[in-house]
Amino acid sequence: MAHITLVRGDITEQAVDAVVNAANSSLLGGGGVDGAIHRRGGPQILAECRRLRDSRYGRGLPTGRAVATTAGRLPARWVIHTVGPVWSREEDRSALLASCYRESLRVADELGARTVAFPAISTGIYGWPLDDGAAIALRTVREVTQAAAGEGSQVDEVRFVLFDQTAYEVFEAELDRA
Ligand code: ADP
Repeated sequence: MAHITLVRGDITEQAVDAVVNAANSSLLGGGGVDGAIHRRGGPQILAECRRLRDSRYGRGLPTGRAVATTAGRLPARWVIHTVGPVWSREEDRSALLASCYRESLRVADELGARTVAFPAISTGIYGWPLDDGAAIALRTVREVTQAAAGEGSQVDEVRFVLFDQTAYEVFEAELDRA
């Protein structure tokens, strides 16, 4: 069963096995977490992303899915790229957001990662309300990491890295609620 930890900070500075990138489906970079990861991680990450676009993901990585690359110069071994849904008032896309966390942890398990750092996926440029994004993140990670022995994830620590104090406090409140 994994420990869920919260830290306030920058995801590109986390010394963990895998850091999760709030990517977009092009896999070719963007703003927010994505921009920071490519800036700090260097060109190797983008080079692998381009190879993924030339092979398995010619049409881009679908929303809710996850795929790993090297972490380049980041103090991590892998970057797991996942594409969060853009928040919508009209349509409930929660299952896609939950899928990002579930699929990222599945990829982490395939890699043998024991420590994984997540940002608050979709809560930046993609506009997801922070409290709901935190509730979905924590619920999904708990479900995956607390499954029966042999069925659950082998990840020991899931670290949520919150960029500002508000996000940290919202996650803290959600963690205390459950
Ligand atoms: P999305 O497009 O999925 O909304 P963003 O990268 O815009 O992704 O934002 C996701 C969350 O990550 C937001 O809460 C944002 O404040 C936060 N964030 C932005 N940069 C970083 C960073 N370097 N480390 C950790 N969190 C970050």
